[in-house]
Amino acid sequence: MKIALVAHDGKKADLVSFVLQHRPLFQNADLYSTATTGRHMEQAGLVVNKVLSGPQGGDAQIAAMVASKEMDVVIFFRDPLGKHPHEPDVQMLMRICDVHNIPLATNYAAAMLILKGIKCDQLNQ
Ligand code: PGA
Repeated sequence: MKIALVAHDGKKADLVSFVLQHRPLFQNADLYSTATTGRHMEQAGLVVNKVLSGPQGGDAQIAAMVASKEMDVVIFFRDPLGKHPHEPDVQMLMRICDVHNIPLATNYAAAMLILKGIKCDQLNQ
């Protein structure tokens, strides 16, 4: 399973802590992150494939993977209270997830539900 993990600066710590809480599941997945988020993941001991930083086009690279059916889940902890120069890319990524019916979580609660779904799927296989 390929999972994209991205967080705006104000949410990076939350994303790292979320991933660490569910480490066994994430360790069995192929993880992709934008560059800065990926560095935070690596510092927490996780192995991730890094693309460009979000503002440099990393969100667009993740979107391209979604469009090419190379991504199964996108978890993007957005900071709704911050301003982001690459907001058009973020919107584009969310739209592409909807176009291709790829599960997208933009906050902790939604990410939890997606993980529960993945765990249920794995138990039923
Ligand atoms: P970053 O990008 O991980 O390189 O900070 C995330 C984002 O899209 O804001």
